[in-house]
Amino acid sequence: SPNPSSQKLGTNKQPFTHNPVAPGERMNATFVTLARNSDVWEISRSIRQVEDRFNRNYGYDWVFLNDDEFDDTFKKVTTTLTSGRARYGKIGEDHWGFPSWIDQEKAATVREEMREKKIIYGDSISYRHMCRYESGFFFRHPLMMEYEYYWRVEPSIELFCDVSYDPFKYMAENNKKYSFVLSLYEYRETIPTLWDSVKNFTQSFPQHIAKDNALWWISEDEGKNYNNCHFWSNFEIGSLEWLRSDAYIDYFTHLDKDGGFFYERWGDAPVHSIAAALMLPKDEIHFFNDIAYYHVPFTHCPTGEQTRLDLKCHCDPSHNFDWNGYSCLARWYDMNDWEKPEGWQDEQ
Ligand code: GDP
Ligand code: MN
Repeated sequence: SPNPSSQKLGTNKQPFTHNPVAPGERMNATFVTLARNSDVWEISRSIRQVEDRFNRNYGYDWVFLNDDEFDDTFKKVTTTLTSGRARYGKIGEDHWGFPSWIDQEKAATVREEMREKKIIYGDSISYRHMCRYESGFFFRHPLMMEYEYYWRVEPSIELFCDVSYDPFKYMAENNKKYSFVLSLYEYRETIPTLWDSVKNFTQSFPQHIAKDNALWWISEDEGKNYNNCHFWSNFEIGSLEWLRSDAYIDYFTHLDKDGGFFYERWGDAPVHSIAAALMLPKDEIHFFNDIAYYHVPFTHCPTGEQTRLDLKCHCDPSHNFDWNGYSCLARWYDMNDWEKPEGWQDEQ
């Protein structure tokens, strides 16, 4: 049910720095950022671009979440940069930390092994809490419970093109539940038993598996093995109601019990991606070609010169990752029987 956010905006306690100018209704949606106080300047760069390229015309809210209290500098700077309401939430201890069933010694041994193998973030405790939080909890934070759709924004990202329409509205009108701009292969060493856990879940909860799902995209042998393809979840526009559904909660709870967030280093990207691929019909997952995006080290720069000119893009098309051998986008196209855009072979 669409929420005319103009109503909410009217009762806003903070003054707007910019009047939303795009006509029409607003969805019940928010930006969401998980950040530390030390991320303030890098998230500011991201906010500035999201606002300039899109949100200054729409005034959607922005929810900031942290396992610590946000300090005055963080709040002052980000409140000033956002056109909609800026809201700040502290994460409860029940959502950030080791669950009771985790064997601390085993988890510590794994971190030490991963440190020796130089697996990225392999020795980090906080990174694991972050991945688990993004996998299973951000959408249930009390502030997030007020919304139907979210757009995740991380520090240090770039948006290279104007966003010329409301992606939240696009999601709602086209019945999309999850979306992506970049996809790639996960580091196997971070998720050795994730797929085993997923297979046990699908056996216990066959009712949660969607017809016309995207299993083909993530498995090359009808589900025996995972091919490591995942949507890169540092960018996401999605349905909070889907993440709060019984299907997704049963899935997360099952995975969480198996302990791989701590005994391995399961990322929220493969966790979200496998959920979307198995529990949504594939046409409820959307590829936003026209949202040009960078998060170190990958760029999505729209294929198609006319699109780039129309949207005043400033990305270098030769940096586009879409048709690179490590991208899973071609496989997404193949699954859908879509013709690849002109020039894709030159960008491989
Ligand atoms: P990467 O993109 O996988 O390299 O990981 P990031 O360092 O960008 O972390 C992902 C997101 O979680 C970013 O929005 C970070 O600001 C946030 N984040 C990471 N670790 C923590 C943490 O310990 N506390 C809080 N509050 N946010 C974190
Ligand atoms: Mn990041």
